[in-house]
Amino acid sequence: MRSPILDYLDAIIAQTAHVVSGAPADYIPELASADPDRVAVAICTVNGTVYASGDADDLFSIQSMSKPFAYALAIEDRGIDDILDRVGVEPSGEAFNELSLDPETGRPRNPMINAGAIAVHALVDDREAPAVDRLLGLFSDLTQRPIEVDEGLAASELATGDRNLGLAYLLHASGRLARDPASSVEGYVRQCSASVTVRDLALMAATLANGGVQPNTDKKLFSRRTTRHLLSVMASCGMYDAAGDWLTSVGIPAKSGVAGGIIGVLPGQVGVAVFSPRLDQHGNSARGVVMMEKLSEDLGLHLMEPG
Ligand code: GLN
Repeated sequence: MRSPILDYLDAIIAQTAHVVSGAPADYIPELASADPDRVAVAICTVNGTVYASGDADDLFSIQSMSKPFAYALAIEDRGIDDILDRVGVEPSGEAFNELSLDPETGRPRNPMINAGAIAVHALVDDREAPAVDRLLGLFSDLTQRPIEVDEGLAASELATGDRNLGLAYLLHASGRLARDPASSVEGYVRQCSASVTVRDLALMAATLANGGVQPNTDKKLFSRRTTRHLLSVMASCGMYDAAGDWLTSVGIPAKSGVAGGIIGVLPGQVGVAVFSPRLDQHGNSARGVVMMEKLSEDLGLHLMEPG
């Protein structure tokens, strides 16, 4: 029998069809030419059941939604204190690709903006395997299927990637980069170009909701402590300079990506993912934000709901 949850998700898509504001990211040529009308939503319970509607099997790049998972892997490798010495946890109040580090400490302000994410990517490299391979392995464990890099998209971003390269040189100059700038950016861009669907993302978010344990395979990917720390950083920094608006209106830890995806996590309950390529002025999916607001309102997801 068809679940009423699927009818509800269909309604979320229908009720947000009027939101056509914003535009797909154009600083990555391949993203600019993607169909802006694609739309999808998925939720996954902490039991691992995924419900999805819309273009739920369409592949798109994970982009900055990869950052929380790379950060969690770096923490698992080195411990929270070591990572805190290298990357802060303060909201930056700036755009995701701002060319700046904390002037007092020289650290990137947080791991959700590009400066922090490039530094984290370089830390995930180890003797056994390059960071990208380790991350693709992690994404595959999270989604239960082999996740691959969209190499065409990565090449397109690298060809226009001066800003990230500039950030990497800034990090290197302040002794904050574990690898050379060019290979760090190349690896980071390939990390961002991993191809996923909203179903994959909902499972990834549900693993965080489930304290770091993949709900279907029972594989423990992150400790509870790492997960709690990560979700706190997502709550304060995940939506860049719109983090305050997001926390008041939607009220759950989240992360957006410039291809138009957003993941949200209600700890102990559910992982949510939406996709729509047109972005608002903060670089977050415009329709995705409205879909998330509706989901939060209807399903009572807001963490600050009193009782
Ligand atoms: N790869 C993108 C970049 O570095 C990721 C940004 C994003 O998703 N906000 O610009």
